[in-house]
Amino acid sequence: MKFICVGRNYAEHVKELGNKLEEKPLIFLKPESALLQNGKIFVLPEHLGSIHHELEIILKINRNGKCIDREFAHKYYDEIGLGIDFTARELQNELKGKGHPWELAKGFDQSAVVGNFIPKEEINNPQNIHFNLLKNDIQVQEGFTKDLMFQFDYLIHYISQYFTLKMGDIIFTGTPSGVGPVQSGDELVGFLEGRELLRTPIR
Ligand code: ZN
Repeated sequence: MKFICVGRNYAEHVKELGNKLEEKPLIFLKPESALLQNGKIFVLPEHLGSIHHELEIILKINRNGKCIDREFAHKYYDEIGLGIDFTARELQNELKGKGHPWELAKGFDQSAVVGNFIPKEEINNPQNIHFNLLKNDIQVQEGFTKDLMFQFDYLIHYISQYFTLKMGDIIFTGTPSGVGPVQSGDELVGFLEGRELLRTPIR
């Protein structure tokens, strides 16, 4: 399986990092070895410098497809969950500055936390899903999917023109504003529509 991730998909977050809005989705991959299951401890990779949390809604692909039409894209996922796209921010800035790919700052071991999923049909307000992240019981990130620059169905359409989507692949759909560093002893807890779907202790 693979992780396909979307960068700069919420305008407020684009601004907080001083980036420009994109005309097309910004896509990068993480390898399967980046997986960290829900509830497991994230061990800080100290050699990578400052690590930021990015809470994101994730989609689990349920069938194989390529060049998927936007109107059929909704058939390719029936569960929505929460994930964390852990990012080595200083390293990412260094790579960005050189015009190099981001993978070393984005795809390291344990950088893709996959929380629990809920069936799409259990979500009351699919056009504007609310999600938020607490760090040590204090809210640090909050997002609403009405603020997405590129909606889920469009992302599936767009990504599948480049990569065949396979059953079990996971799409990270981008982070809202409020990203920030984690330290040993922190605990991250993520909620989607008020339901706890993710919990990650940091050591
Ligand atoms: Zn991200």
